[in-house]
Amino acid sequence: MNIVRAKEILKQQFGYDSFRMNQKQAIETVLEKKDCVVLMPTGGGKSLCYQIPALMLDGLTVVISPLIALMKDQVEALRNNGVEAAFLNSTQTAAEQTEVFRAIRNAKLKLLYIAPERLLQTGDQFIDFLKSVKVSLFAIDEAHCISSWGHDFRPEYMQLAKLKIHFPDVPLIALTATADKLVRKDIIERLNIKNAALFASSFNRPNIFYTVEPKRNSFARLLEYLENRRDESGIVYCLSRSSAESLAKDLRDEGFDALPYHAGLDKETRDKHQELFLKDEVKIIVATIAFGMGIDKSNVRFVVHLDLPKNIESYYQETGRAGRDGLQSEALLFFSWGDVNKLKGFAEVENNQTQTEIMLKKLKLMGEFGDLKTCRRRFLLNYFSEELPEDCGNCDNCNTEFERFDGTIIAQKALSAVYRTGQRFGMSYLIGFLRGSQAKTIRDEHKNLKTYGVGADISKNNWFDYFKDLISQGFLAQTEGQYPTIVLTEKSEAVLRGNERVDLIKVTIKEDKKASLVSAISHPYLKDLFNDLKQVRTAFAKSENVPPYVVFSDATLVEMATYLPQTEVEMRKISGIGDLKMEKYGADFLREIKNYCRVNKLESRINLKIPKRERKSRTKRDEHGNNTYEISLDMFKSGLSIAGIAEMRGMAQSTIETHLVRFIPTGEVSLEDLVLYSKIEPIKNAIFRLNTGTAVAPVKEFLGDDYSYGEIRAVMAEFLR
Ligand code: ADP
Ligand code: ZN
Repeated sequence: MNIVRAKEILKQQFGYDSFRMNQKQAIETVLEKKDCVVLMPTGGGKSLCYQIPALMLDGLTVVISPLIALMKDQVEALRNNGVEAAFLNSTQTAAEQTEVFRAIRNAKLKLLYIAPERLLQTGDQFIDFLKSVKVSLFAIDEAHCISSWGHDFRPEYMQLAKLKIHFPDVPLIALTATADKLVRKDIIERLNIKNAALFASSFNRPNIFYTVEPKRNSFARLLEYLENRRDESGIVYCLSRSSAESLAKDLRDEGFDALPYHAGLDKETRDKHQELFLKDEVKIIVATIAFGMGIDKSNVRFVVHLDLPKNIESYYQETGRAGRDGLQSEALLFFSWGDVNKLKGFAEVENNQTQTEIMLKKLKLMGEFGDLKTCRRRFLLNYFSEELPEDCGNCDNCNTEFERFDGTIIAQKALSAVYRTGQRFGMSYLIGFLRGSQAKTIRDEHKNLKTYGVGADISKNNWFDYFKDLISQGFLAQTEGQYPTIVLTEKSEAVLRGNERVDLIKVTIKEDKKASLVSAISHPYLKDLFNDLKQVRTAFAKSENVPPYVVFSDATLVEMATYLPQTEVEMRKISGIGDLKMEKYGADFLREIKNYCRVNKLESRINLKIPKRERKSRTKRDEHGNNTYEISLDMFKSGLSIAGIAEMRGMAQSTIETHLVRFIPTGEVSLEDLVLYSKIEPIKNAIFRLNTGTAVAPVKEFLGDDYSYGEIRAVMAEFLR
């Protein structure tokens, strides 16, 4: 009975058709006045687990959250859905606070957001105040902060143990997006909720594509990456304030719309930058981890880590800021073991050996993730005690093949370079030497050696991989210290004498890998209508001074531009439109859609909207149908450009090119569709000349910036045909 009412509220107030994950169970439990712990990934929908009960229960729901920066937005979003909410924190004036107190006393509020330190300020004064009004529920957000096993321990959270003592009959719901088994145990013990039900949802974020690249020339690589994502919002994380500051400036110098965010900026600047980002008025935020604890922006399309995060929890949480609207998004990490070493100092927790060891162990696992050769999602989920039955198909490693080949000659070249230069140089120097670099850093006497330049046909990146491979197989060794050098080992001699074969690993992009997971969100929606609707949204957002997503999320606009609702009834079938939003915005958006349809002679497609559950089973049955490559192909055949498809699907142009290249061998896409006629011959020549099989990187390096990976792959695919 209760849950029927909860579902009505879900639709009327929030505009959603069905509960996600464990929302229903959590709400039921709270309504039965029982405690519970909810583990759900970022973007999963934790808030509704207490917001809906708050609306159903008689009295006030107190939400304890450490994220002061987020409170204002959360409260605004709630008010915009017609929910009476307010917050109390140190950023308000006394008068504002008094106003909130009055509203609570007069039972005008359903939800109150408050920071833990404010709740427990001045002894139990505030607790006593709460006792004098009717509190129906406590919600503890970011509950992992209570555990010293977690990565974000906050001592003030320990005080929350008091709540259950002062309010034994008020149910308590604890929520978090990251909690391994030890942390879960801590939450339950320290909050005094021994009988709490535990609802653990999957931590999988299927719409995030995880990629790790070696950290080399990272600025140049970042520019290339951003170039392909010009119209998208993203966050670039780095370790230090100064690098955040200078990187943002460098990006602006390169014509990118980027602003810094870090704890060293004054509050006013910080707030301004955050606000501009939230409002889509600036596309890229370059931040230290200080940013984003509370970022609730739903259309972040990519998160780049220029430096390594300290642990998997942070990585998962930071990458989790991408794609909260469920649309395809990306996480890119630039990885080096050097970063792991650098971070060791930060893992030190003063006067606490145990805590230090926990942090070092977490750091080591972060390093393992960076170096991983298998499915990244499996590793991540496994870290959170979850099993993924098969590889995900939506990470770099799932789309890469690691093939062993006879690398004896390459190994001999590398080893003799080490030998001839006297075992006194590091990897970069040796690679420059092998490739015949003209740089002044290469010593003149070395330029006269026979080995100088014998490895010019192999790209720098491949050489790095081969050296690492040789080290891991024990044919070479790397010394410790700040300037590690490469030296020979006892296994080296046999190779140099030609008495031992060495296998190396070649990395290639998989050809026939099926995308098993890619979400059903890839509607072919009308891009220009979507843009028109965005403008309507911007106008509302400006006049109400709220971020655009508070009006409607991108996902909601995408649905409108897909199903073209023509009436109010049809409009209500779009996900994310509740009563109040329908009333406030419905007519204007409807007018825009109808206009567009009239001009373009289109009709409603609302009948195509299939409930999610059916949609899922259909894709499963139809294994060869609806995969991500074919969606791109269909869109391409319907006359859209690659750039257009990339934008509509929220993917990089290079990704779409990779999709389309697959259809060259079958003849469904022709080479001329993807590569300018004048470029085909030079690419062919380069492939013949270098003769490196299916390795694209050497060809790319040879041809330079005028040729893209996609174009080279396309020509290679034509050979296969
Ligand atoms: P979390 O706190 O777990 O990171 P939120 O509570 O902020 O996530 O929810 C993320 C987004 O998902 C919000 O835009 C929210 O409105 C939306 N959402 C929540 N529950 C549902 C649902 N049942 N159906 C559709 N969208 C939902
Ligand atoms: Zn994978």
